[in-house]
Formats: sequence, C-alpha cells, structure tokens
Amino acid sequence: MEKRDYYEVLGVSKSASADEIKKAYRKLALKYHPDRNPGDKDAEEKFKEAAEAYSILSNPDKKQRYDQFGHAGVDGAASSGFGGGGFSMDDIFSQFGDIFGGHFGGGFGGGDFGGFSSFFGGGNQRGGSSGNVQKGSNIRVRVKLSLKDIVHGVDKTIKINKLVACPDCGGSGAASPSDIKECSYCHGTGVVTKTVQTMLGRMQTQSYCPKCGGTGKIITKVCHTCGGSGLVKRPEEISFRIPAGVSEGIQLTVQGKGNAAKNGGINGDLLVVIQEESDPELKRDGNDLIYSLFISVPDAISGTTAEIPSVDGKLRIKIDPGTQPGKVLRLRGKGVPDINGYGTGDLLVYVQVWIPKNINQEEKSLIEKLRESKNFTPKPSSEDKGLFDKIKDMFR
Ligand code: ZN
Repeated sequence: MEKRDYYEVLGVSKSASADEIKKAYRKLALKYHPDRNPGDKDAEEKFKEAAEAYSILSNPDKKQRYDQFGHAGVDGAASSGFGGGGFSMDDIFSQFGDIFGGHFGGGFGGGDFGGFSSFFGGGNQRGGSSGNVQKGSNIRVRVKLSLKDIVHGVDKTIKINKLVACPDCGGSGAASPSDIKECSYCHGTGVVTKTVQTMLGRMQTQSYCPKCGGTGKIITKVCHTCGGSGLVKRPEEISFRIPAGVSEGIQLTVQGKGNAAKNGGINGDLLVVIQEESDPELKRDGNDLIYSLFISVPDAISGTTAEIPSVDGKLRIKIDPGTQPGKVLRLRGKGVPDINGYGTGDLLVYVQVWIPKNINQEEKSLIEKLRESKNFTPKPSSEDKGLFDKIKDMFR
C-alpha cells in the first residue's frame, strides 16, 4: 500500500507552522484515541498513522528531509526510532507528555477532559484565513536514471506543462477587479458555522460556504483567458537534484513545483518517480553491485589480472592461482551509496571459469596427459565446498 503524505495525514499545508502541526495532531489523536474507539482497528491505524506523521513533522531535521525526499528521506529515521515495525502504542503514548501536557492518560473517564478543554471549547480553529487556502494538485513525472546517475546523484532539468496563475487576471478568475464581489451568504468569511450537541457538550463546527466554495467572493464576470478558473497551462522548466542511492519506484518531492491553485493558493508539488535503467554489465542488489567475470581454465590455474567494469570506469583486479569457479571477490565501497547515508555498498565479482566447448587434437592430447596428473584430481578444501553454498544462494 502506498504510504500517505504526512501533511495529508495531519490535514495541514506544507507551510503549516510547528504550532499548527501540533494542533492538527492533537485533534486527530483525540478523535482516533483507542479509549474512545474500543476495538476499532481502522481508528487504531489512523491513530498510529497520525502519530508517525507527527513524529517526523515535529522534528525540524526529519521534517526537512521529508520535505526534500519524501518518505524515502525519513523511512530509516521513522523505523529506527520506533523499533522497525512501525509505531507501537507505547511509542505513541510516550509522546503524549509533550502533546497533552500529561493530561491524556486518565482524562477520558467521565467528562473530565483535563488539558484539552481549550481545544474543544473554543471551536473557532479555522480562523478564517488559513483554512480557506487551496492547494494545487501534484504532478507526477517519471525520471529514468543510469546506474552512474544513481551512484553519484544527478541534477535534472525537465520541462512540464503545468497550471500557473492566469497572467490576465492574476489568478482571480475575474475579468476585472470590480467584477469580484463579497459573497452575501457568508459575508466574505468563506465559512459557515453550526452549533451541534455532542457527547462532549456543545461544539461548533465550521464548513466552507456552499455558495462561494470558501473563497468569500463571488465573481460576476469571468476572465476570458482562463474562463474563470484563474489558471492556465504553460510549459515550465524545473530543475532539481536527485540524491545518490535512489532506487526503482522511490518518489521524491519537489515542493511547490506542481500545479498552481486557484485564488493564489499554495502550489502543489512535483513528484518525481525514479526508474532505474538496467546496466548492461553491472547488476544491482540493494546497495551492492554484481559482476560476473569469466576467466579461462589456464588463468584460473596460474592466476592473472582481469579488468572489471565499475561505475567510474575500468578497475584491474588480481586473480590468484588456483581460483575456484564461484569465488566472490569483494571490492569495498565500489557499490551504491545508501540513500540515508549509511555507507556505500560493494562491487561483488563472481568468478566463473570458462570451460571450452571445442578443442583440437593437440589440445585433446594435452588434456589427456593432465588427466593422469594427481594435481588434477579434485581435492576440495572446506572453503572450496563453502563456495557451492554461496552459488546456491545466488540462485535463490
Ligand atoms: Zn484569468
């Protein structure tokens, strides 16, 4: 299942302040708290999802990495901090001291809500301005990368057609400024407020004004260029850096480079999905690279040097006398850097010994002589036998 965007999980915009993020999380934690939703698996999942999102977005370092690289940038961080298997309830409750000022634990019994009356009572959370801001849609593009680009990271510039604010109306969608009138239904606030009776007492709920859609404005004559949408499609060149160590299917987020939103809202994001071009010589296995090297029977017996392709050109390696087929030579640090900065993989050279399929009479008589020699009778050491297991592992 694709992981949801953390901002989407908390229902806040990317420009939300630390305080807004905290408030949004408190709201969700209350709504999906297991004490209030006994046995409801769906609520429990939502509760954990929100906690995970908050753990990243409340930490400035992690937030920055997430903003830049999406889930790929913080996956290691989230799992290392929370025991690998995602979030446990204990982890979440350990956060509550911070979020709820210690009042959370026993608060839900009999209407004593301890520390949270402040955010149930007031009701006016939307505050008119921030709630009405719309966000443009995201644009998803695929970028094909060579192995070399993946190992070193790469700067990319792509051209996409995207929605931008209409140049004629500046995004308002109106033919002229005088064609924008205040919405009479919500009196320009963009929201309508209702008071409802709930188990927690009287609560005010707010929703976008149905007449103006939350803008607080009504357009009486629309812009002829954009037909009132305030947006037009234009080609744009976008440059961004792809970090080293990405892999097939990873999605990077380039913030604010997606489609523009109506009425000067927040731009959507550009989502860059990585596609790996397969390399003709080097096969990728996680952060390691694998190369199959064929050497001749005489080279295996007498030793030699061999040229190995690497991402940064040819490397020369030594093949010892008496090298068995299936031997693996490990060239440390010649693989792919870890995307989370945990070192660099290796280049593994699997040695194969080429057995000729056709030989002439002269060679045949030489081989017959060798057959008689005791040195050519197999006497595998335990290390040689171990190679067989390694080869088996290769074909798992
Ligand atoms: Zn326009």
